[in-house]
Amino acid sequence: MNKRAISIMQKMAAYNGLHMDIPSETVYGMKHGYQVWIAQQQNSLLSVNFSVCRPGGYPKVEEINPVLKATRCLGKCTVSKNVVSVSVKDGLSKKGPQKVEEALQVMTAYFGSNGYKNCCQNCEETEGSETYILAGNRANLCPNCFQELSTAMHMQLQTKDQKKENVVAGIVGALLGALIGAVAIVILGQLGYVASLSGLLMGVCALKGYELLGGKMSTKGIVLSVIIMLGMVYVGHRCDWAISAANYFGVDVFQTFGLMPDFIAEGYIGARDYFTGLTMVYVFAALGAVPTIVMSLSNQKKGTLTYKMQNTNADVEWY
Ligand SMILES: [Zn+2]
Repeated sequence: MNKRAISIMQKMAAYNGLHMDIPSETVYGMKHGYQVWIAQQQNSLLSVNFSVCRPGGYPKVEEINPVLKATRCLGKCTVSKNVVSVSVKDGLSKKGPQKVEEALQVMTAYFGSNGYKNCCQNCEETEGSETYILAGNRANLCPNCFQELSTAMHMQLQTKDQKKENVVAGIVGALLGALIGAVAIVILGQLGYVASLSGLLMGVCALKGYELLGGKMSTKGIVLSVIIMLGMVYVGHRCDWAISAANYFGVDVFQTFGLMPDFIAEGYIGARDYFTGLTMVYVFAALGAVPTIVMSLSNQKKGTLTYKMQNTNADVEWY
């Protein structure tokens, strides 16, 4: 989330008498007797979430959507067991705080008049639930359930940690992924496309290949995948040029592949074109690889985050 979005979230919290949990970028708190947590869904879409229950079953989408339809700025709602999530259009715009206020009013009024009570989303206990981050996910839980679930989660994470990374299988995965990238460099190159797509593909596939077969991504895995990627980009690009040159001069492809440095030295192939092309593929491979690495590492980090949301910025000023 960017600075501007965070500042809007903070204003939204202050405007609605809620709090902001900075690490999880979540606005949370109690509104008209209902615990609410608000987070960015995608782009400027915000989701406003509640966990409610009443005797006789979970909340129903068919019953809530007509209520939302009557308002103009609220989007659709989704229900997962006790959790009701309402999307708010342009929730991160300047008018976000007011739009969220409306969502809070509409929803809590609906819950109130339909006999729904705020509850722990796990055991439906109606007293004392609070908003937690449980293994990276936001949840409205009673302290008992939080204790139970976080212990279970902790054990699960430990076994996941114990699951050893299989480096050999990882290397095979990275090689297979990089091979897809190399084939793409040759095929797309032959079709006359620039290196962008095949480079990106190479960056993503090599790393994903390692993670998929190796079991998990580590620093070692990243280094190995990158080395494989560097080599395969070189081979793929050289292949692409060898095929073109072989066609042009009417010689054997494999021989041309081997003689490539001579072809370049002798001026049959423009050194500048060749190396500019190679650099481009490397640049795009990096563009594919970096976000893949960042995402893989941040997912690992997120998966372990577990805590009770805290008002880390109580003295935000509201103008
Ligand atoms: Zn509970």
